[in-house]
Amino acid sequence: MKLMIDGSLGHMDFSAAHFIPTIEKCAHLHGHNYYVSVEVEGDPVEGVLMDYGILKSLIRKAIEPLDHRILVPEHSGFSTCKIDGDVCLVAYAGKKFQFPISDVYLLDREMSSSELLSRSILEKTEKEIFRHGNIKRFAVCVYESPGQGACSEVSR
Ligand SMILES: [Zn+2]
Repeated sequence: MKLMIDGSLGHMDFSAAHFIPTIEKCAHLHGHNYYVSVEVEGDPVEGVLMDYGILKSLIRKAIEPLDHRILVPEHSGFSTCKIDGDVCLVAYAGKKFQFPISDVYLLDREMSSSELLSRSILEKTEKEIFRHGNIKRFAVCVYESPGQGACSEVSR
């Protein structure tokens, strides 16, 4: 049995700025109104696979730190990020930016693509998800615009 929540309807969303150094158009600093959809698969226990409310709050808790931030890969082969006091210095492809650290979310991936964002959110939440019920598969999809997103999944 499969349980699904569409993040655009379930209010699992965040707005953020980012850049993708390897794609010419996306190398310009720009933003998205992201939303995160999830799927959970397994055998229901007493008729329920997982409480929708718990699932939504787990995802919201994971994405809240990204909301209204600039997503900066902390360690990347494609861009550099230097923290100098309360400032984050970002450089890639001949560009240099200086952001207040309070406006930055340091991403634990080498790029802020929707592919790697979905993997990051999956890894931040999977332990808690698999603690609930009889769950065998968990998928996280990050959409940067309606109908355009990337998914990561894990099975146990
Ligand atoms: Zn983008």
